[in-house]
Amino acid sequence: MSDIPSILTASERVFIVAPHPDDETLGCGGLIAATVDRGGSVFTLFVTDGGASHPESSAWSRRRLVSERQKEAEEALAILGAADQPRAFLRLRDTEIPKPDSPQWQPLVSSVIKLLVEFDPDLVVLPWRRDPHCDHRDAHALVTSALDLAGSPAQCIEYAIWLDELGAEEDFPVVGEVERIEFPIGPKQSLKEAALQAHATQLGAIDKDAPGGFLLKPETVARLITPVETYFTPCA
Ligand SMILES: [Zn+2]
Repeated sequence: MSDIPSILTASERVFIVAPHPDDETLGCGGLIAATVDRGGSVFTLFVTDGGASHPESSAWSRRRLVSERQKEAEEALAILGAADQPRAFLRLRDTEIPKPDSPQWQPLVSSVIKLLVEFDPDLVVLPWRRDPHCDHRDAHALVTSALDLAGSPAQCIEYAIWLDELGAEEDFPVVGEVERIEFPIGPKQSLKEAALQAHATQLGAIDKDAPGGFLLKPETVARLITPVETYFTPCA
């Protein structure tokens, strides 16, 4: 255990940033479960509502899907042991997270600052800054801005979801940019597998009704749910 960075084993107030419902489990499920297990607190911020995953479906309207995906996220957190832990849903539309030059940016950053100040994290777990999915990058930018403006002393680490599968060369960390740290999640892997099953809309459960919708491929799941979670810590 001694070679696991203490940032992963001793942080008491961990703020998880999930661009979509399911990223919390795929990226950080082991860390969430382990932190709660040892008495720490975990706040999960769901940035988008995930309502765009099945746009062609007549049975699954955006509204129905948004509601279901929030339920799935709640269920996943419960399976990870975080049923009583705080969370917030910003309910932004996927692929439409406001940019810094938009009129929505300032109020949005302010709402994230409020959450950060109230929870007062010592560790913030962000999506990788150059994850190939735009919502992951935009969620990173949003929360990073809020952290800067709030003057938060929290340490930050980042997790990649789509980098290894879809990343271009320039999306990967460059030499000296980050340190790669690994967190062996041990028996928490099975909790993580169970929590992912809660995200049934992303695993084909509504595919019959929603052809052409997003589906988490088994290869993606196998790549992300392993005995070890990988994080990047930015170099000073
Ligand atoms: Zn995502």
